[in-house]
Amino acid sequence: MIEIVEAVNSAIETVKRLSALNEKIKDADVKMLIADLNIELANAKNNIAELLTENQRLKDEIKKLNKKRMEKLQFKGGAYYSSTGDGPFCQRCYDSKQLKNRLVENNPDFKFIGNYKCSICNNMFKVTEQ
Ligand SMILES: [Zn+2]
Repeated sequence: MIEIVEAVNSAIETVKRLSALNEKIKDADVKMLIADLNIELANAKNNIAELLTENQRLKDEIKKLNKKRMEKLQFKGGAYYSSTGDGPFCQRCYDSKQLKNRLVENNPDFKFIGNYKCSICNNMFKVTEQ
């Protein structure tokens, strides 16, 4: 992103040199083109500033989401729970990808395999604590 800012600043410097050069030539068409170029470069600089702000906001949001996602869970009774007791979460998803995927009660016909099921990876678990 810094390279883009440097490129625009370099273009602005080139426009200033063109403008100084045109003072000797005094061509009205060149003067108008330089003015248009100045406006376009100013717009590009504003757009870059907005993108940098948005980029930083998104980076902060990713950091916050990753921190939330990486919250340490406690394993008990066959599933994971948060420190506030929220859960149960899938052990396979958390162990392999650190994803907090909620377990849902399994269909009674399959309770002999597991009383809870992950809605993402579809694994079934016998959860004894809640
Ligand atoms: Zn899962």
